[in-house]
Amino acid sequence: MRVAILGGGLTGLTTGLRLARKGASAHLFESSSSAGGLAATFRSHGFAFDFGPHEFCTENQALIDLVEELLGPELLTIERRTAQYFRGHLLRYPFELADILRKVEFGVGLLALTDVMRARIASAFLRGEERDFESWTKARFGTTLFDLYFGPYTRKVWGRDPSQIDARTAAARITAESAWDLTRKTLGYHILRREDLENIHSEHRRTFRYARGGIGTLQDRLREAFLAHGGTIHYGKRVVGMGLRQNSIASVEFQDGQTFRDFDSVVSSVPLTELVPMALGPRGAALVRERNLPYRGMAFVFLRLARPMATQFHWVYYPDAEIPFQRVTEFSHFEADMAPLGSTGLALEIACDPGDEVWKTSDATLGAVCVRSLTRMGQMQERDVLGFDVIRSSHAYPVQVVGFRESADELLTALREIENLSPVGRQGLFRYCNMNECMEMAFDVSEALLQGHDAAHIDRVTTWEGVHKLPSVLLRQGA
Ligand SMILES: Cc1cc2nc3c(=O)[nH]c(=O)nc-3n(C[C@H](O)[C@H](O)[C@H](O)COP(=O)(O)OP(=O)(O)OC[C@H]3O[C@@H](n4cnc5c(N)ncnc54)[C@H](O)[C@@H]3O)c2cc1C
Repeated sequence: MRVAILGGGLTGLTTGLRLARKGASAHLFESSSSAGGLAATFRSHGFAFDFGPHEFCTENQALIDLVEELLGPELLTIERRTAQYFRGHLLRYPFELADILRKVEFGVGLLALTDVMRARIASAFLRGEERDFESWTKARFGTTLFDLYFGPYTRKVWGRDPSQIDARTAAARITAESAWDLTRKTLGYHILRREDLENIHSEHRRTFRYARGGIGTLQDRLREAFLAHGGTIHYGKRVVGMGLRQNSIASVEFQDGQTFRDFDSVVSSVPLTELVPMALGPRGAALVRERNLPYRGMAFVFLRLARPMATQFHWVYYPDAEIPFQRVTEFSHFEADMAPLGSTGLALEIACDPGDEVWKTSDATLGAVCVRSLTRMGQMQERDVLGFDVIRSSHAYPVQVVGFRESADELLTALREIENLSPVGRQGLFRYCNMNECMEMAFDVSEALLQGHDAAHIDRVTTWEGVHKLPSVLLRQGA
């Protein structure tokens, strides 16, 4: 069996390895000059930075086995320390009552608490429609916390009013499902330490897995194993078109004018909105134009500092609109040899869209603005700066606007008429998913192909509803 894999992120590499190990001919095509996608590690001047925290969490034994086999002693287990920057204070997360009482003004705390209780009681009697982020959050946490925290943070990350964002985004990002859950989990975690209150990706979990040197080490080992099993990687190959014979893809065309035909089946993790016009031509282009499926970009500022630490946390969230970034990850705390002794490295995330003001701001200005902001908060001093790099990614998050599910569903359904095409991955399914889910999808798709199916489709119901909870399920076609 011969498979063309489009996109060399975690999904593409894992698919490739699973296929190559079973003797399939696997050719992977990646548009950039290196593999890894979002789960890569950027290395500079002895420092290493991931594109955001990239904690690895899974309970899937097959996945744990693969990661242990690939990383061996390079696989680390890390005890998590995270915080929220709230009204000038770093509050430990999951919240601790004593911490809150000590740091948050009494009046604000009381108002938030009574608001939560009011929302909880009201929603017990009157359940309104909770289609969007705002109504979902207010029904569980009340107006005070929405106005002070959830609203501003959401606007920053997604670049839209929370009323335009689908409620599923809130359900996926906010661990607690209700005010009662929040109380139960907070108290349960700190007093009872009940493991059964934990979700796979919940911040209430105490530990996560990681790779020495950065999450990119996992990609490195995957890539090496893929190549060792006879796989081929073609870098600098941006897929721009496809040739069809009857209902199957017969050729893949690249930006450099070259074409690849030596395959039976295509697995694609390139963005869904790019794939559909390539596979379905003008009809596909019209379908995409009519739907609202935007991706959110990100500017990452990687700051190298000559001080042992900025804060004591692995990562901190910053909801305030006047702070230019929404999260800072400090990799020297990952105990993974990611910063020279006595120094620390920070990865700052600034959500943006290609072409907007942040995107067009020069690297020097962006770096300076971030340094000023951190200095103002007392987390560093300007003289600590050794240097910084800025990297922009156009596809960091699929934006789950209200109605996204129906729109993405329509595109994925339309693609089913192509008999040898399997869309997968975060971009490929327009799914706000984590690394473990990407790898699980890769397992499922490669297994279906090895069993002789022409294509595999990740079950969409599971995809939308099961974020963080359910394993991916396959619907198969062909034979
Ligand atoms: C800020 C941030 C923090 C995160 N933190 C975590 C975390 O803590 N834990 C966790 O589990 N997950 C985390 N994730 C999610 C994780 O990074 C992704 O789920 C995963 O890396 C997606 O892998 P992928 O291969 O599906 O997609 P991608 O990594 O996006 O890979 C797609 C690849 O396709 C290539 N490509 C695109 N278009 C074309 C084309 N036309 N032709 C050829 N190649 C193309 C791209 O260059 C890219 O390499 C985070 C993501 C972000 C953005």
